[in-house]
Amino acid sequence: MSKFDFAAMPDANGYFGEYGGQIIPPELKEIMDEIDGAYEEIRQTPEFQEELDSLFADYVGRPSPVYHASRLSAQLGGAQIYLKREDLNHTGAHKINHCLGEALLAKYMGKTKVIAETGAGQHGVALATACALVGIPCEIHMGQVDIEKEHPNVTKMKILGCKLVAVTRGTATLKDAVDSAFEEYLKDPVNYIYAIGSVVGPHPFPKMVRDFQSIIGTEAREQFMTTHGKLPNYITACVGGGSNAMGAFTAFLDDNDVSLVGVEPAGKGLDTKDHSATLTLGKPSELHGMKCYVLETEDGEPMPVHSIASGLDYPGVGPQHSYLKDLGRVEYDSVTDEECLNAFMTLSRVEGIIPALESSHAVAWAMRKAPELPSDQMILVNLSGRGDKDADYVADKLGL
Ligand SMILES: *Cc1c(COP(=O)(O)O)cnc(C)c1O
Repeated sequence: MSKFDFAAMPDANGYFGEYGGQIIPPELKEIMDEIDGAYEEIRQTPEFQEELDSLFADYVGRPSPVYHASRLSAQLGGAQIYLKREDLNHTGAHKINHCLGEALLAKYMGKTKVIAETGAGQHGVALATACALVGIPCEIHMGQVDIEKEHPNVTKMKILGCKLVAVTRGTATLKDAVDSAFEEYLKDPVNYIYAIGSVVGPHPFPKMVRDFQSIIGTEAREQFMTTHGKLPNYITACVGGGSNAMGAFTAFLDDNDVSLVGVEPAGKGLDTKDHSATLTLGKPSELHGMKCYVLETEDGEPMPVHSIASGLDYPGVGPQHSYLKDLGRVEYDSVTDEECLNAFMTLSRVEGIIPALESSHAVAWAMRKAPELPSDQMILVNLSGRGDKDADYVADKLGL
């Protein structure tokens, strides 16, 4: 066993070291503890495990392949780059993994409605998909400004049958959608359940979302052992809230010879205000019911953050990432909007794979690192999603 018992985390109170916990009113704490109890019980049952496994296989299309990007590797001249193809999942990204888990848990708990907020709409679409499949009503709150910007996702959510609530208060963006969704949830937390979209929020959500996503690393480990008889030297993933990265890293935390690298958005540069590099430049604080690294203004408010990838602009980050950073087990680096765009175009043109702008951050890091390494080393990139949603934006920006 390693010095740190990663498998036992978080502790019973939801802490990863000093991070995480439940920074919420006592009445909510009771509800969260009840969800945790039900989760721990239900997830052990063969019924739940078999149903989730079979949906992962036949509905999501798991296991997702590991693809050797040999042309890209040859062009860079160094380590071999491999891609874990979460972009090939049904709905086109890793988010379906935890949304299915959460929707199924809601069904097993006898909940009558799943509630969530969405920013760019990716979490909303994945959750509406999972709820349609499981047969449970779903209500998504979204800022009016985002509704106007994210037309294709709005249309998909409507087609999938979820109730879309347009939020017009405040700035009519994500923050107001969170408040609105939470108010609805508090009307009947016994019968409703809130579905968080990443490894963030109060305990037990960082744990639950991580557990549902950890299938990514579990598969990749087996795939590397079968094909190569050894593990990759590096595993890299982009970090917004941190769910796809925790999913990729969890199975490898005890393998000290596997370097794990989380990639944050440096936006227009770390020396500007337009970035979202929470672990790189933030400090330990509190946000959305948890203790974690946070990017804050001088008066202690969450900073307005920026990334070319809308799924990465969050001023906080998962508590387990905060802990892994302090421990030094995971290295956190960053990539600018410009490097991200270059990786997006390169992977598209050299491998015929259009990556999501979020995932392009991890691709960019691998492209920077590979030339420094010998050609028998392997870098696994978690390709969290496909870039169809970003194609028009990029074409416009580059004048294609
Ligand atoms: C939402 C999203 C992310 C960011 O979320 P994490 O919780 O940090 O993984 C990354 N990639 C894609 C494709 C996404 O849709």
